[in-house]
Amino acid sequence: MSSLFAGHEPREIGATGRYALVSVERGIERAGASGEPDSTLAYRADDPLLAVGDRVRVPLGRGNTPAEGIVVGLGGREVLGELDPARVKPMLARLGPSVRPDLLDLARWISDYYICPLGMVLGAMVPAAAKRGPRVVRVTLLSPTPPADAERLLADPKIATKPVLKAWGVIASLNAGDFPCTAKALVEAGVPRAGVKRLVAAGLLAERMEERPRASGPSGLTATDSPPSGPAAAPSVELTPEQRGVVEGVVATLGTFAAHLIRGVTGSGKTEVYLRVIEACLRAGKRAIVLVPEIALTPQTAGRFVHRFGGSVEDGGWGVGAVAVLHSGLTPAQRAAQWAACADASSPVRVVVGARSAIFAPVEDLGVIVVDEEHDGSYKQDQLPRYHARDVAVKRAHLARCPVLLGSATPSLESFANADAPPGGAAKYALWTLPRRVGGASLPRVEIVDLADERRARAQSDGWRDRHLHLLGPTLEAALDRTLAQGGQAILLLNKRGYANHICCPDQRCGWVMHCADCDATMVFHLALGRAPDHAGDAGAAPHPRRPGYVRCHHCLAEQRLPALCPLCRKTVNTFGQGTQRVEEEIERKFGQTRGLRTGSTLVRVDADTMRSAQDYFDALDRFARGEARVLLGTQMIAKGLDFPNVSLVGVVNADTALALPDFRASERTFQLVSQVAGRAGRGTEPGLVIVQSLSPRAPSIVLAARHDYEAFAREEISFRQRAGLPPAARMARVVCRDEDYAKALTHAGEVWRALQSALDALGPAAGHTRLRPPTACPIARIARHHRIAVEVYASTRGVIQRVLQDARSRGLLRSDARTAVDVDPIALL
Ligand code: ADP
Ligand code: ZN
Ligand code: ZN
Repeated sequence: MSSLFAGHEPREIGATGRYALVSVERGIERAGASGEPDSTLAYRADDPLLAVGDRVRVPLGRGNTPAEGIVVGLGGREVLGELDPARVKPMLARLGPSVRPDLLDLARWISDYYICPLGMVLGAMVPAAAKRGPRVVRVTLLSPTPPADAERLLADPKIATKPVLKAWGVIASLNAGDFPCTAKALVEAGVPRAGVKRLVAAGLLAERMEERPRASGPSGLTATDSPPSGPAAAPSVELTPEQRGVVEGVVATLGTFAAHLIRGVTGSGKTEVYLRVIEACLRAGKRAIVLVPEIALTPQTAGRFVHRFGGSVEDGGWGVGAVAVLHSGLTPAQRAAQWAACADASSPVRVVVGARSAIFAPVEDLGVIVVDEEHDGSYKQDQLPRYHARDVAVKRAHLARCPVLLGSATPSLESFANADAPPGGAAKYALWTLPRRVGGASLPRVEIVDLADERRARAQSDGWRDRHLHLLGPTLEAALDRTLAQGGQAILLLNKRGYANHICCPDQRCGWVMHCADCDATMVFHLALGRAPDHAGDAGAAPHPRRPGYVRCHHCLAEQRLPALCPLCRKTVNTFGQGTQRVEEEIERKFGQTRGLRTGSTLVRVDADTMRSAQDYFDALDRFARGEARVLLGTQMIAKGLDFPNVSLVGVVNADTALALPDFRASERTFQLVSQVAGRAGRGTEPGLVIVQSLSPRAPSIVLAARHDYEAFAREEISFRQRAGLPPAARMARVVCRDEDYAKALTHAGEVWRALQSALDALGPAAGHTRLRPPTACPIARIARHHRIAVEVYASTRGVIQRVLQDARSRGLLRSDARTAVDVDPIALL
């Protein structure tokens, strides 16, 4: 097998009397020998080469169903505990080693911390494609026989025919370093195809077979890609004094565990700091992992790493292929190949750039971990294992004894609080601040416009004659017109997909609103020109006469036709509310004639509906970067990490979309979204303008984002959270019980609540100010027919939460399964 398993020497173990503990990649959990819950099962380990970390196939249950798992322990009879050795089954197969010991330790921590069966954590750590192992291809490599032999052979006139001599002449002119090589390469170098065969037959070329991981086409980003437009920092830029301070501070901690938080305004040169820290790490002979939000994994961001570290040696780079990029656009085979390259100590890969799960990349000699945009919600996985990659990164750095560097323009309040020293104590994280944009560029001017005023102004100017719904008010409209007239580009954000999110009866006395049949949510209307969906379940609903399209539930994804008539009073239904499609339509209506904006060419919409693949997204950004598209309109997908110098206007169509959510982080989200998207403006030489439309123009999150005042926002919000006993002032866990039967969901939640209550009682005074919130319906009380009831625990320390959850877990009263979602440090509370 290849070096995927480097650093992992199988030990010789006698075939008899050996047993292995296997963590099966299923959600099973039982009380283990030690009383601790785990998902490990014992098997006979007859294979002498078996080692901890190996992936194996084992028989499961009475039917001996084959299942895959990881060996997490090996030993003699003692590993069996009370089990009768005669009843222990043998394993079915050793599939190859796949989890290194350090990652096994990390998996154990995740399993304990996030209350998830170890086997599921291990299962999630390795991409499915990589579990199957890298697909190999056999290649035949050729090299010339040593000169003495060649001379002897060529002395024979039967061998030294004219074509052979000609072909040999070409071989002799090549460099020794060109060999061994494939026949194809020789043909390309000028050796006739028939000549290659003759030389092999004559014994002048020696053949050798070799297995190589299959290179399955380009991975989307390779070392030879130039970053598409956008400024690529030349390695020679001189760091600003502020940047130098951060780099020196972080580099000083290489070789030890330390957590650093960089708060740097957009365009302050954070990425350049990461690059310099990684350079120092590589110079020390170590490797690096860089996490970026999935959506920021564009050629733009990843390209900067590829460019700096993946270039040729002559560029002062680290050798071709030094950067592995793990993004969602990879095919399974590409992913497996990249993964194998990360694990291979002899491969050139030194830097791994990837989204959430790249934190599990099997990188040896880890020297630093960077988490860019550390506040980003995509770092939290919303299914088992429900881990937060930023927090796992801190733990992994701790285990690997290396520094971890978190960066953001708007750090999460959790991280910011961690960088704040408690009275009389030391802060957990070192805080670094980059308060200014590099190169003297200023932060853009942000103007908040009151949508109510805007509506009034428009009505007064035309005496309410205009019946259109305007999502762009006169101020934003005029600014967009000016920008387009001056040849500038604009980014418009509306964090809502579809055309209209409110489908209702026009008659207020009737009051019918279209809800999803299976969820507690309204349906969203999506325009679909040329698409006439024929969905099951809407028999009898005649298609709407004016609007081709369909309605969709954004929670369970159910779709049906837009009904023409109100089912209660038979009036023609209305579609209200907002969505990116409606903005798109409005922009084309307003600027199609005058400024030549066309949907799909000069106007590009970027949301989950138009961006079906990573490639769509790359293409859209590329069109915008080349100036072919003038306006980029989209959801939060466009708020992050993009750097287009020609963008002089950013418009937030409605800043209130996140503000109204029933989640205590609504304000924080709003602040982050407005700050991040505003940061896309004025990154070139022209100062930028940002227009934020809102119905709550005095909301602190919006006002402070407009003033670029993170610190004031954070202080105010943290003090509010302190008063309310919410994170980051407290730690929290949430258990959501779901069932199609409401009574069952409620009973189950009651059991969970009592289990946690008794665990809490057992803790006694050590529990401190722990609060247990009794079963309460979730804000979205039903999704996909399942009722959802939550029990929440708030405590002043993580330790208390852990003890309460572990206690309930070890007594078998709390398990993560299809009916029960245990979420430790939840970030979404809907
Ligand atoms: P951030 O990650 O904070 O948004 P970047 O690292 O992308 O900031 O820097 C913004 C721009 O400034 C980039 O084009 C980058 O190449 C450039 N830059 C960064 N540091 C310097 C520097 N010290 N001197 C000149 N240009 C710099
Ligand atoms: Zn639904
Ligand atoms: Zn009606």
